[in-house]
Amino acid sequence: MSDRRGLLIILSSPSGAGKSTLSKRLREWDPTIEFSVSATTRAPRPGEVDGQDYYFVTEAEFKRMVRDGEMLEHAHVFGNFYGTPRAPVEKAIAAGSDVLFDIDWQGAQQIANSPLNLHTLSVFLLPPSIEELRRRLVSRGQDPDEVIARRMQKSWDEISHWGGYDYVLINEKIDETEECLKAVVTAARLRRSQQPALTDHVRALQSQFEELA
Ligand code: 5GP
Repeated sequence: MSDRRGLLIILSSPSGAGKSTLSKRLREWDPTIEFSVSATTRAPRPGEVDGQDYYFVTEAEFKRMVRDGEMLEHAHVFGNFYGTPRAPVEKAIAAGSDVLFDIDWQGAQQIANSPLNLHTLSVFLLPPSIEELRRRLVSRGQDPDEVIARRMQKSWDEISHWGGYDYVLINEKIDETEECLKAVVTAARLRRSQQPALTDHVRALQSQFEELA
């Protein structure tokens, strides 16, 4: 066990609001942050790597994982199942590592309400406008038109849950949003409750003071 408590950093947004880019940049900024690789029943997009972007599983395997209690949370999104495998998260947290989650509002709520008493930081990204959201979804060029239309329709569902998050960032300029995200993570790490070793540090200061007296 580490004397630092691992923080669960949850990043949610409608598709196309910049979540994947920011999640990647946060991990480049601090490579000790572990990324929670979700399991999904959706097909891989070009360039996606099994075990790195997602664990691509069949519906039967997904349902088995849920039944056997292997998921920390799970949800049905855009006609597919998505879920967070529990074991890697518990291992990372016990080792004092922070874990980053790219999950939707349903997952964020389930983790926040988990009986495991986990320390969470939840951040929601808003697009500057609906036109910009559509532009980003189209320019990603990875999804067929009907999927883009469905994702646009679903965007409002996701956005309507913004009020349940600790922090909300409007992603107008990605570099500025990145700085805000890093600031929020730094602040969350400095919460008193995140630093159990503080008690020892203050005790040591106290004995130094007593020696002075
Ligand atoms: P995509 O198919 O574009 O990769 O993801 C679709 C949505 O599912 C995104 O909002 C993403 O954050 C969410 N998602 C990905 N993995 C998980 C997961 O493990 N749990 C939940 N609840 N949502 C997830």
